[in-house]
Amino acid sequence: MRNAEELVEDVIRQYQDYVNPGLASLMRFAGFGDVEASARGCIVTTATGAEYLDCLGGYGVFTLGHSHPRVVEAVRRQLETMPLSSRTFFSAPVAELAERLARIAPGALQYTFVCNSGTEAVEGALKIARLASGRHRFICTVGGFHGKSMGSLSATGREVFRRPFDPLVPGFVHVPFDDVQAIADAMNDETAGVLVEPIQGEGGIRCPSDTYLPRLREICDASGAYLILDEVQTGMGRTGAMFACEHYGVAPDIMTLAKALGGGVMPIGAVMATAEIWSRAFTDNPLLHTSTFGGNPLACAAAIATLEVIEAEGLVAAAAERGSQMRAGLAQIQSRFPEALVEVRGKGLLLGIEFAVKDVAELTINGMARRGVIAAYTLNNPHVIRLEPPAVISEAQVSRAIEVIGEAVAEAVEMLSDL
Ligand code: PLP
Repeated sequence: MRNAEELVEDVIRQYQDYVNPGLASLMRFAGFGDVEASARGCIVTTATGAEYLDCLGGYGVFTLGHSHPRVVEAVRRQLETMPLSSRTFFSAPVAELAERLARIAPGALQYTFVCNSGTEAVEGALKIARLASGRHRFICTVGGFHGKSMGSLSATGREVFRRPFDPLVPGFVHVPFDDVQAIADAMNDETAGVLVEPIQGEGGIRCPSDTYLPRLREICDASGAYLILDEVQTGMGRTGAMFACEHYGVAPDIMTLAKALGGGVMPIGAVMATAEIWSRAFTDNPLLHTSTFGGNPLACAAAIATLEVIEAEGLVAAAAERGSQMRAGLAQIQSRFPEALVEVRGKGLLLGIEFAVKDVAELTINGMARRGVIAAYTLNNPHVIRLEPPAVISEAQVSRAIEVIGEAVAEAVEMLSDL
């Protein structure tokens, strides 16, 4: 039997030799040179027995916390009866999930295609928009993140991820986020859709002005383009509303979901659209867009249980309440270090801290890890540390996180001033 230290050494060597050597170095540098062993609620335990308060929440996956017993039980029951679909008969879990989603979705969203990840949900949204509109162009935003498969990467607004794969899918233009005029200027009668996140996640937790989404709605309506909202990260209560677009009183024509939809137990994605869009897209050929594992019973059982838990435990309100507490604590830290911390922003439990200097952000993440709190920066903006803890986080755990962030920032600022 390997002891814990030997296990950690072996796993890191396997990452170096068989998974991704660059990633192995990056993870060690960030202070995560241990191996995860188990997780429950907001706590991740490593092979060496260290316990971490998870304030990253798997980049938005763990809104219900880790291993929520009700979701685990629903998946276990499904596992024991029918884990995967025969793909011939009707499947009750996919039908039940689609109806429940239609009941809570904004506006007239009615039909759902269930897939396995966020990027697949975006691929589905792009294809449905093309089919239903008969047009091929998409307007997206700089700093927007929609995934890394070829279609969704074409929509993602960061050159560092895009350039190595040029030429990408044609017809995508990127305009600055929160700039209504730029969307209006880019719109033409070839435009199938405007694809945006209601709040940019990987772009640095950027909330648009209150009028942005309502104006996009008007521009899309006037031009016949679809408004496609990517709620992969913001959906399922994360921002203190079930869907972030509700903060702005706007309903999309097409919406993508993933991450927290599986309750932190199963991978799942979904794309929803109105009945009119669905009939335009799929009436001639209902098999035009399919996925072998999409809508599998295990993932659907997890998602149904997730919707029940969000409601039964009041997690949307909890995200709003714990988010306010966390934001107030972060504002205090900002007032102590006004030169290092440019801004604290976000909604609910999707919060970002923008640092003036990227190195301070990196050292802060490392300092937090050494003190037992997990965080990470946003993929498209390394100046911003994101905090996305589970909505089941307690008041005391938020206080602890704030204490640790304060200590880590103080340490990082001091380390850099010593250089
Ligand atoms: N869309 C948004 C808004 C995301 O934040 C992400 C992932 O971070 C994706 C799409 C891609 O999701 P996945 O990593 O499951 O493919």
